Amino acid sequence: MHKSDRMRMGIMGGTFDPVHYGHLFAAEEARVAMSFDRVMFIPTGNPPHKNYPEMASAEDRYNMVTLAVGDNPYFDVTRIETDREGNSYTVETLQRMKELFPGAELYMITGEDAAGDLPLWREPYRIVSMAKIVAVSRPGGYRNKIDDLPDEIRESILVLRTTPLDISATNIRARIASGMSAKYLLPEAALTYIKKRGLYAKRATV
Ligand code: ATP
Ligand code: MG
Repeated sequence: MHKSDRMRMGIMGGTFDPVHYGHLFAAEEARVAMSFDRVMFIPTGNPPHKNYPEMASAEDRYNMVTLAVGDNPYFDVTRIETDREGNSYTVETLQRMKELFPGAELYMITGEDAAGDLPLWREPYRIVSMAKIVAVSRPGGYRNKIDDLPDEIRESILVLRTTPLDISATNIRARIASGMSAKYLLPEAALTYIKKRGLYAKRATV
C-alpha cells in the first residue's frame, strides 16, 4: 500500500476492440509511476460514441481483456459495463466504482487522445471531481489538445511521459480484415481468441 491507507486504484476504460499492448503498456507504466495497488480494466458495454459494423460483442471484448491481463497480478477486469443495458457513460461507471470500492482513490488512465476529448464526455466536471486523470503518451500529437482544455479540467490531468507505442485497435482490425499479421501487437492469447471466433475477419461493405 502507498503512504496513505487508501487503496490507489487505476481505472483503464476502453472499447478494447481488441485489447492490445498499447493498452497494457499504458496501464503498467501508470501503475508503476503512480504506485497503484491495483489497475481495473473496464471494457465498455455498448459505447455511445462508437458504432461500426465489425465491432466485437461486449462479451467477446470482455473475454479478450480477461485473457490479456491474466499474467499481471496487479491487473483485473470487471463486467460492470459489460452487463449494463444501453449506453455506458464514464461518469456512471466512476459512481459505481466509488460504491464498490469505498475509500479508494480513483485514477483514470487514458491515452492523450482520450484525455483531450474529455469535454465531449458526459458531465466532464463531475468526472474530474471523482477521479484524477493520468494521460499517457500516444503518437499523433494530442498533447496540445490537453493544454487547450478549460483550466478546471486541465488541472485534474496528470500528463505522464511514456514511450509512445503506435498501436491502435483500428489498425489491428484493418490488418486482420485484410489478412495481414497482427502478431506481437497484442497478447497471443487474445489473437488466438480472435481467430477462433473469426472476429474482424470481414470488412463490412458500406
Ligand atoms: P480504436 O482504434 O478502436 O479507437 P484504441 O486503440 O484507441 O481503439 P480504445 O479502446 O479506444 O483503443 O482506447 C482505450 C484507452 O486506451 C484510451 O484512453 C486510449 O487513449 C488508450 N490507448 C489506446 N491505445 C493506446 C496506445 N497505443 N498508447 C497509449 N494509450 C492508448
Ligand atoms: Mg480509441
